[in-house]
Amino acid sequence: MQALAERLETFVTGRALEGAQLLSFSSLKTFSPRVEDLYGQTLNAITRRAKYLVWAFAGGTRIVVHLSQAGRVDVEEPPKTTRPRGSVVRFIFSGPSDLGVGPPVAVGERAVLVREYGTQRKASWWVLAPGDDGPLEGLGPEPDSPEFAELIRTSTSTRRLHSDLRDQRVVAGIGRGWGDDISHRARLSPFASLGSLSAEERERLLAATTSVLDEALALERRRTGGLSEAKLGGRFAVHGRFGQPCPTPGCGDAMRRVAFESYEMTYCASCQTGGKVLADRRLSRLLK
Ligand SMILES: [Zn+2]
Repeated sequence: MQALAERLETFVTGRALEGAQLLSFSSLKTFSPRVEDLYGQTLNAITRRAKYLVWAFAGGTRIVVHLSQAGRVDVEEPPKTTRPRGSVVRFIFSGPSDLGVGPPVAVGERAVLVREYGTQRKASWWVLAPGDDGPLEGLGPEPDSPEFAELIRTSTSTRRLHSDLRDQRVVAGIGRGWGDDISHRARLSPFASLGSLSAEERERLLAATTSVLDEALALERRRTGGLSEAKLGGRFAVHGRFGQPCPTPGCGDAMRRVAFESYEMTYCASCQTGGKVLADRRLSRLLK
């Protein structure tokens, strides 16, 4: 998502929004301000916050886009008029204005199409007045912040580690896929709780978070294809790879999966739980 924001930024920042085609009516979650109020305003920056793309306009209004699991972004130059399956919204931008002053040099030069695969219609966007945080309100700290390190070092949480890592209000921008990879690299059970970890285990978790996310970002920056957040299962080292060999050199165990609260986690018993196979409550229920 970070790499996606960086690539979009070079594509459309410094340009004025010329239009927005609402292609899925339920995707726009706000009524006011209207997106039309932004027409003619220059897009100053695109950043990422948690799993949201934040588009900041010159007047202080922001558009926030949430892609959901299956969402993706297509860039178009020149803008298309097609409506591919799963289309959510198309933002049309002018050519760059001269240092941000004067009228745009061309109309409708580039466009960004938000769409999603599959049948779940979860991709959403908001138009937020200055000072309104909308869906960004209450998000936890980013994983690369001092607040996150403080949280990991001091948390007394009794929830399962995996639940905390994927809860955007505890820590923003990890999610369950990276939660699996981080727990594995830190050699911690996904069923451990933050409050039960030793100081040494907490440092291991911090180091694993940094290295897993840094490597992911470096990999994404090298990608040159479509601006897709979908179909990225292949980038995980362990998430979703149950039955496959554990990637830890010399381990030799097979990755296992366990369900909890409707989520499925992937872990290695040898590396993470001292050989213990975690009880799958979903299975236990079926056996009763
Ligand atoms: Zn292993």
